[in-house]
Amino acid sequence: MSLRIIVSLLLLIMGWGTNEVYSQTTEGKKMKFAIAIHGGAGSSAKNFSEQAILKRKSVLENALNKGVAILEAGGSSLDAVQEVIVILEDDPQFNAGKGAVFNAVGSHELDASIMDGSNLACGAVAGVSHIKNPIRLARLVMTETRHVLLSGTGAEQFAKSHSVDWVEPNYFDTEAAKASWNRYQNRLKQKDKDTSLLDFQNSLAEPDWNIGTVGCVALDSNGNLAAGTSTGGMTYKKFGRVGDSPVVGAGTYADNETCAVSATGVGEEYIRRAVAYDVAAQMKYRGVSIQQAIDDNLNSRLRKGDGGLIAVDKDGNIAMGFNTGGMARAAADSEGKFEVIWGER
Ligand code: ASP
Repeated sequence: MSLRIIVSLLLLIMGWGTNEVYSQTTEGKKMKFAIAIHGGAGSSAKNFSEQAILKRKSVLENALNKGVAILEAGGSSLDAVQEVIVILEDDPQFNAGKGAVFNAVGSHELDASIMDGSNLACGAVAGVSHIKNPIRLARLVMTETRHVLLSGTGAEQFAKSHSVDWVEPNYFDTEAAKASWNRYQNRLKQKDKDTSLLDFQNSLAEPDWNIGTVGCVALDSNGNLAAGTSTGGMTYKKFGRVGDSPVVGAGTYADNETCAVSATGVGEEYIRRAVAYDVAAQMKYRGVSIQQAIDDNLNSRLRKGDGGLIAVDKDGNIAMGFNTGGMARAAADSEGKFEVIWGER
């Protein structure tokens, strides 16, 4: 037996594999993980009934449990992010997958992205209307193509050569999204010009803008970060409009050197300010904490009412914030944190 093999065996017996070194040297624990989820920023939970709040929170809790189970078992942050988002996409209460909002022409166009912080690999889809779980297709774009973002019919053609669930567009129809679309339609009749989405939403008598885009960020026990975001976009968006959620650096970003970020809000504002990347860049170049980087974006770079952010850094610190009336959110880590929040700031 060579000396190298003997040394490797000794290290293995002493528990000095790469994984263990990471967790033992940082926290003295067997496992080290952290995960955060958002269920969309927008109007305050005050606009929703107690029952609606509890119903939405219970799905967030299920999703959080799923993510924690994957991470606790030593699974990857990418798998945790994807599976959490699939649960939220399958629930009609969220503006992603099943509960996607209607665009201006009364159809659905879904966007999603996922990013692997260990190697900056990323994948995204935009404007798909036959894909049950856009986050799964985004992951396939990342792993099975040399591209980052596929859109519309091209993305759907790519889907056909892979095993993703295909649905007819009316699968995404829900009464709540239709009611919201009707309110916009009625309100629009009273307006004479195409104003900005935020101004338009603010002008609604009862602002109900689409709480419900979903996102997840996670750190796994190997020290790998991942982020993902999925959405139906914004109610009454123009046909063909693409928001920030599938734009890496705007709505989603992950880099093992700094943090993983997922955004929710008025996508145009997140795109023009490269918000998700800016959170990571502030940590890297200004040396600020994850919470400071998020607060700076929400308080100084974005406008009040634009949206929210969740992030986890390479040490497992979780930061969440929003400058809207509310943001459904949840977080857990290997030190016992487990919380699902909506209805209180
Ligand atoms: N950011 C999403 C978009 O602009 C919408 C949202 O988060 O509510 O498409």
